[in-house]
Amino acid sequence: MITLALSKGRIFDDSLPLLAAAGIEVLEDPEKSRKLILATSRPDVRVVLVRATDVPTYVQYGGADLGVAGKDVLLEHGEQGLYQPLDLKIARCRMSVAVREDFDYAAAVRQGSRIRVATKYTEIARQHFSDKGVHVDLIKLYGSMELAPLTGLADAIVDLVSTGSTLKANHLVEVEHIMDISSRLVVNQAALKLQREPIRALIDAFARAVTP
Ligand code: ATP
Ligand code: MG
Repeated sequence: MITLALSKGRIFDDSLPLLAAAGIEVLEDPEKSRKLILATSRPDVRVVLVRATDVPTYVQYGGADLGVAGKDVLLEHGEQGLYQPLDLKIARCRMSVAVREDFDYAAAVRQGSRIRVATKYTEIARQHFSDKGVHVDLIKLYGSMELAPLTGLADAIVDLVSTGSTLKANHLVEVEHIMDISSRLVVNQAALKLQREPIRALIDAFARAVTP
């Protein structure tokens, strides 16, 4: 049995065409069912539904043989022990620094002020500001980052942006592009050895189905 870890929402939805290309149809709709283990049209393949941030953990410890996880999640988790054979180019967005429209970020950086940054992505933020030599106080949040600059909790946020409409609706502007983000296929190293043929075949089928 091959177990594939996916998260509900955009990763699940964007993975369906790739699974279809590998001859895998998920037999249940996660938005309608409460099941966490979903059967597929292939008797040897099942899908487990986990939180997006838990995908690397499941794959690393063998709770799943493969998974699909955002680069953001992989960088925060740490990539040790995870084989990443493929950029699936789905759930694409960017990691950015954003501030209130009336906050002069360039001036704050130029003056060497300490900047308070709220984010769910503390590892990516720590690395980014340290590379730039900007002094920051990081405040860990678990959601609704846009609220932080509006309430005075922070001067800036580090968050994922796709269209920019959420920032705009909250009078925030993007001032730095940190990196482009997409989702990757991650594979458990031991599973790759023990089930080499079927896992290789899956990776190849996904690779052929990736749209550049
Ligand atoms: P949860 O909603 O359970 O707290 P989450 O917010 O991490 O978890 P999603 O919002 O489904 O889960 O995001 C899953 C992945 O999709 C992220 O890790 C990221 O790689 C990508 N992603 C997040 N936001 C966007 C976006 N606006 N556009 C495209 N891809 C995104
Ligand atoms: Mg979300």
